[in-house]
Parts: sequence; C-alpha cells; structure tokens
Amino acid sequence: MNSEIEQIESFLQAQIAPLANKIDRQPQVLKLALQKIGDRSWLALKAAPELGGTGLSDADYLSLQIRMARASGALTFLQTQHQSAVAKLAQSQNKSLQQEFFPDVAQGKALIGVGFSHLRRRGVPMMQATQTPGGYLLTGKVPWITGYGFFTQFVLGATLPDGRELYGMLPLQNQSPELGGEIKLSKPMELIAMSATNTVSAEINQWFLTSDRLVAISPAGAIHALSRRNILNHGFFALGCAYAGLDILEAIAAKKQLEFLQESWQSLHGEVMQQEHKAIAALLNNHYPQQLQLRAAMINLAQRCSLAAVIASGGAANYLNSSAGRIYREALLFSVSGQTIDVIKASLNNLLRSG
Ligand SMILES: Cc1cc2nc3c(=O)[nH]c(=O)nc-3n(C[C@H](O)[C@H](O)[C@H](O)COP(=O)(O)OP(=O)(O)OC[C@H]3O[C@@H](n4cnc5c(N)ncnc54)[C@H](O)[C@@H]3O)c2cc1C
Repeated sequence: MNSEIEQIESFLQAQIAPLANKIDRQPQVLKLALQKIGDRSWLALKAAPELGGTGLSDADYLSLQIRMARASGALTFLQTQHQSAVAKLAQSQNKSLQQEFFPDVAQGKALIGVGFSHLRRRGVPMMQATQTPGGYLLTGKVPWITGYGFFTQFVLGATLPDGRELYGMLPLQNQSPELGGEIKLSKPMELIAMSATNTVSAEINQWFLTSDRLVAISPAGAIHALSRRNILNHGFFALGCAYAGLDILEAIAAKKQLEFLQESWQSLHGEVMQQEHKAIAALLNNHYPQQLQLRAAMINLAQRCSLAAVIASGGAANYLNSSAGRIYREALLFSVSGQTIDVIKASLNNLLRSG
C-alpha cells in the first residue's frame, strides 16, 4: 500500500475516530479536524502534484474515503465537498483562477465548497445564467451548500439559456445588492446528521460573475453523464459507514461475550469486505448496470450495519451522543447523497427484496 495512504489511515484512527461524536455536532471541533488534514496537505488528494496535490488514483482516493467515513462521517462529508471543488478547479481552463487557489487548497489555506447538485433536478432550472458584457448574471436558488463558516467560496452550478452548464466561483457569504448582485444565505439547516457541517441554501439575485471567476462551461446534461460515470463514488462513503457500524458491533460483542453478536459481526464483516473488493474492481469495468447494483448494495450495507450497531447497543443508542446513533444517522445521509433517479430505484428495489 502507498505509504501516504497508510499515514492517513493511522492518523484517522488515532486522531479523528475518537472525536467523531464531537466532530458530528460541534463546528469548532470539526474545524480543527479539517485543519489537521490541511496541515498535512491532504486536501487536494486527487489533484496532480504539479498543482500541489497528492495525485492519488481514483481507486486509492475512493478506498481512502472508506477509511475516512469509518472514522468520521461529518469530516468525510465536509472535506469531500472541498475535494470535489478542487477537482473542478484542477480541470479548469482558467489558469489565473487556478493559480489563485493552488497549492493553497491542498493545505486548507483556501477552502471551497460546491453547490451544483440542483443541476440534476428536472424542470425549469433552479439557477439560471445569462451572458452579459464581461461575464454572466446569475439568478435563482441553490438548495444545498455544505460548509458555511468553513469555506470562503463555493463553485456554483447554473444553467445557460441553451442548456449548457456554467460553473463559477462565488463567495460563500451574504452579499448585499449594492455590491453587484445579492447572495442571501439561509441559517445553517437543522439536520439529523452531521449538523456541524453547516449546510445552507442560497438565494442569488442578479449576481455578476466576472469572466475571471468562471471555472468552466460544460455541455448540456454533463452532470448526468458525470453522475453515471461516477455512479459508484458515493457508495464508498456508505461502505465506510458500514465498517463504522461494525466496529461498534465488534466492541459490544467483545464486551457482552454473546456468541450471536460475534457471529453477526463476522457475517456482516465478510459481506462488507466482499462488497469493497467488488466495488474497487468494478471501478475499471465501466459496466453501468453492475456499478449501479453495487452502489445500491453499499447503501444497503450502511443501513444494515448501522442498524446492527443500534440494536446491539440497546436503549443507549438513543442518546444523542451515542456512536451507534450517530452512525445510523450518517447512514441516512449517505443513502441520499449524490442521489440520481436510478439510485433511488435500485436502493428501493433492494429494500423490497430484503422484505
Ligand atoms: C445534508 C446535505 C448536504 C448537502 N450538501 C451539498 C453540497 O454541499 N453541494 C451540493 O451540490 N449538494 C449537496 N447536497 C445534495 C445532495 O447530493 C442531494 O441530496 C442529492 O443529490 C439528492 O438531491 P435532492 O434531494 O436535492 O434532489 P431530488 O429532487 O430528490 O432529486 C434526486 C434525483 O432524482 C431525480 N428526480 C427526482 N424526481 C424525478 C422525476 N419525477 N423524474 C425523473 N427524475 C427525477 C433528479 O433529477 C435527481 O437526479 C446535500 C444534501 C444533503 C442532504
């Protein structure tokens, strides 16, 4: 195994996992955890070394996301928004914008979020862009942006009149209309999982995106093609969550000395490991129906393993600071993140079959 990955793994186990319940609900603890990752230059893991990134392959990056989600769902979810903004920026043709952010983004000296999942929604585009001299005017609503108070900027997705997708860099702060457009952020949402990540929505009114803040313009429907190509990706968080549930189950089995708990752990652990091997192997095969089934199976494992942790923990799983309860709530979020209509259908089919 790559030595950098080993270092990250042992860091996660020693310094992040023990704080996971606090990281889940206390933004200041989450901030310190993110900063620790930044101090080690681990916040641009896929970006090329010339840009200051780590240059990990897809398979190494995704198997690391399993380890990270096993240690802390909230930290994984927050850093993945930044890493996906960094990936967009790394592919940008806008070299001066790239220079503004690299290599600082690897060290967390510049932190960026994303707000583009609404491009997957049907119907009238939620965020519209029109070209104007010197840039673009942006108007509409952004339903989800994670990382308020952590990220200073975010990559916004908007739709041009011809259906092409525009990605631009905007401040993740309220902006009053006098300053060339308005950005109105909601308060951080009250969420059942990972509340420390400060997810907000935004209303944007006639924001003038100057051409030098343009990250990319992609063909119409590019987000759907990307979701299809990367259909497995969000499943790796779910697998990490499944392992986290099993870690609890294993600890309780050892404590309570009940054979059936140990047997349950063994059976589920075997299944999770098998799914991990299959998913890593499937990254290369580009066989969408198989990858979709694997994604749904990984979501299903997160749900079952986190529920196993809850059941084995008994009534105590209901305490707000219970690890089992937290992991169960994380499984809910990882069941819907990066969701597409195919994922909804495949996930529900799995639930119907298990009945
Ligand atoms: C806590 C939290 C934080 C998040 N943070 C971010 C963030 O920082 N940045 C970001 O970009 N996103 C973020 N998301 C969005 C997340 O990835 C989405 O939840 C996920 O993509 C599901 O989308 P939705 O609920 O917004 O859309 P939905 O409207 O439920 O759509 C989900 C999918 O189903 C399809 N669909 C729905 N209805 C139909 C229909 N009738 N016919 C055909 N297709 C249909 C849509 O096209 C879409 O592909 C966050 C979500 C949560 C819960």
